[in-house]
Amino acid sequence: MIQVLKFGGTSLANSQNILLVSKIIIKKFKKNKIAVVLSAPAQITNLLEKAIRLAVKKKNYKKEISKIEKKFYQIIKELSVKNEKFSSKELINKLDTEIKFLRKTLKSIYFLKQCPDNVFAKIISKGEILSTKIMENILISKNYKTFIINPIKNLIAHGNILDSSVDIQNSKKKIKKLNFHKKSIILMPGFIGGNNKKNLVLLGRNGSDYSAAILSACLQAKSCEIWTDVNGILTCDPKIVSNAKIISNITYNKVLKLSNLGAKVLHPKTILPLKKFNIPCYVKNTFNKNFIGTKIEKKLQGKKIQDYPSITYIKNMYQFLITCTNKENNIIQKKILENFTNHKISIFSIVNTIEKKYINFYIQKKYFKKTLYIIKNKIFQTEDFQKKIKIKKKLSMISIVQEKISEKNKLLKMIKKIYKNTQIDILQSITYQSKDIISFIINSKNRNKGIKLIHKIIFNPSKIIEIFLLGIGGIGQTLLKQISQEKSRLKKKNISIKIFLIANSKKILFNKNVINIKLWKKKFLNNTKKYITEKKIIEKINKIIKKNNYINPSIIDCTSSKKISNQYINYIKKGYHVITSNKKFNTGDLINYKKIRKIAHKKNRKFLYETNVGGGLPVIQTIKNFMKTGDKILHFKGILSGSLSFIFGKLEEGMSFSQAIKKAQKNGFTEPDPREDLSGLDVARKLLIIAREIGHNIELKDIKIQKILPEKINKKNNIQEFLEEIKKFNKYFFEQINSAKKNNQKIKFIGTIKKNGICEVKIAKINKKDPLYNVKDGENALSFYSKYYQPIPLVIRGYGAGKEVTASGVFSDLLNTIL
Ligand code: ADP
Ligand code: ASP
Ligand code: MG
Repeated sequence: MIQVLKFGGTSLANSQNILLVSKIIIKKFKKNKIAVVLSAPAQITNLLEKAIRLAVKKKNYKKEISKIEKKFYQIIKELSVKNEKFSSKELINKLDTEIKFLRKTLKSIYFLKQCPDNVFAKIISKGEILSTKIMENILISKNYKTFIINPIKNLIAHGNILDSSVDIQNSKKKIKKLNFHKKSIILMPGFIGGNNKKNLVLLGRNGSDYSAAILSACLQAKSCEIWTDVNGILTCDPKIVSNAKIISNITYNKVLKLSNLGAKVLHPKTILPLKKFNIPCYVKNTFNKNFIGTKIEKKLQGKKIQDYPSITYIKNMYQFLITCTNKENNIIQKKILENFTNHKISIFSIVNTIEKKYINFYIQKKYFKKTLYIIKNKIFQTEDFQKKIKIKKKLSMISIVQEKISEKNKLLKMIKKIYKNTQIDILQSITYQSKDIISFIINSKNRNKGIKLIHKIIFNPSKIIEIFLLGIGGIGQTLLKQISQEKSRLKKKNISIKIFLIANSKKILFNKNVINIKLWKKKFLNNTKKYITEKKIIEKINKIIKKNNYINPSIIDCTSSKKISNQYINYIKKGYHVITSNKKFNTGDLINYKKIRKIAHKKNRKFLYETNVGGGLPVIQTIKNFMKTGDKILHFKGILSGSLSFIFGKLEEGMSFSQAIKKAQKNGFTEPDPREDLSGLDVARKLLIIAREIGHNIELKDIKIQKILPEKINKKNNIQEFLEEIKKFNKYFFEQINSAKKNNQKIKFIGTIKKNGICEVKIAKINKKDPLYNVKDGENALSFYSKYYQPIPLVIRGYGAGKEVTASGVFSDLLNTIL
């Protein structure tokens, strides 16, 4: 029994590939009788079509023809260099004749400004005619006999000249009559058929697959092999998902659905003839010829064979929204369906809205003109029809096809959720009679991202965290260290963390394919790009994040920059979570404070800032829980500064004020300049954040800050001079401590929030029973007095600063983005 092989455009793209194909043909022929269907070399059909389009518009088409001539000339020349016996002369003559024909015909088209379909067909099929001729010559040069089937005479086709269908019974009779030598390799140009007047017609773009299927049916072949540039039929187009899986066995029915829903690997018309005559079809890779490929058959056999879901897409979809009255609705819908069936237009998801004021449907771009024609002439028959229709372009339809989609609803829900999180709007989900397809219409700009996401959800449902880290001081660096240490543990839990960008105020390191966390420092330091300004850094980051192709990206701000915090709303709008240890945003304008929360909610992104108060202590989280459960915080009192907790602790132990400050500075508790801590501003900021979190609408200026120092100090002094000057307060603090001690009290620097929202930062005397009484050594303590927690408050106590605890707080926020 004969085997049919078909080689596609990429397989025949240049002389090297053509030789590769000839070797496959010869090897096959040594084992079996074969018939070979050939496409045009890649791009040739497109160039021919483009030349016609240009000529019709009276534009210059000559460049296209020269390109075609050059391409074939190069192929022929290279083949003759590689093979002495190859007779290039005859081929060059043939090429010249065809090119002359093209130039002459296109000239007429240019003058007439139109191209009848039969001329169009004749022109754009030239690629297959020439590639078949070339292959014939190669085989002859290697001493093989060949026989060329003329498809115009033998594939009897009907229908649209540019997209004809072949009558298999009639064609079979014709082909049976052909008298090919038993030892010949049969060749046939694909894409071409002939009508009953023996004129050339086309079988539709990409139609050589169909030619092969028809020839297989006519020759009663034992199999039909489609040789292309990928390993077979994969779970998705590998040009979009590089790690798509090969499907080793697949049914005719599933391929039919896949190709009808856009999978380019096989032309949709290919499957029916193969299915009808039960001819198994193999899809194989010309460039990986020993790979088994995909077998397409009637039923999946064998237990081990998996029914993988496959994802496919149609690029250019148009939405039509027709306004109509309730009365008109059913009539219009009926007319659309009738006319579209007559004109062979596939229509997706025709629905009318609940109030029946609109009819909504989708078509492919190729049917656009016809659709408009039908709407104008068959449906409305009025000039003002355009007022009644709204057309949306640049849409794509993504579909999932499986023999049996397990847990379809769950999958649907998951896709909807993840699309929502990644800012992909689903314009419509489409339902079919066949239950094993899910389709969505989305904007084309989100197509690749949307496809990748679905593939990921189905085949690799790990939880992904993608990081853009701004600020690599103590906290940022420690965070990277912690992530690096935890990576493998998290991987076991199916959580994968990827870092794409690391920046400080002068440098930026970005790798669209992931930064190796172990090498980041080296890479960052070796990044020879010039230091730039913070403004430029922000501009660069904005450019990078604009094209959000990520699944679950987070911007982490470990800087203290106001300029960066000004960008948060923009980041969230672009679909990024924002995680920050920087207090600038939350202590800024109340309007923005509210705005970011609203936008984050709308965009389903997280804005997390647990480390803004109390370092890694679970403060914000606790307040949020209070609010959720309906408890109400009535009153708050807390020690919010590690440095001041340390200093006041030392005072109690008998140390002088100036010494206590020096020690705090030496132990790294204070800012480099301790005056910043003593200003109380940092405590006020934290207090503001707590107050806002509780629900008080206040600004930083509303917080009363009682000065720690009883008198003014010289601001111009340097730190050393300041540490000297401050000695003058030793006596004052000594007296304060002693007077408190007499009443069994201690003095602490605290922040308070009253029920009415009044906030104060001050030195206060603390009673023995107060949970803040024993807090010292740099610890923080926060007492929340609520409806349920009183008179004994809920207290959070622990170290509230330090890079390890703060970084771990940021890390915990980061993990919260996948909850
Ligand atoms: P040929 O020129 O050989 O006919 P095509 O370009 O028409 O090749 O079809 C092969 C292409 O189909 C592949 O390169 C791939 O990009 C695309 N394709 C789309 N969906 C799939 C899929 N599910 N499996 C394999 N290939 C696919
Ligand atoms: N050469 C034709 C096309 O590009 C047919 C094919 O390759 O299948 O559409
Ligand atoms: Mg193809």
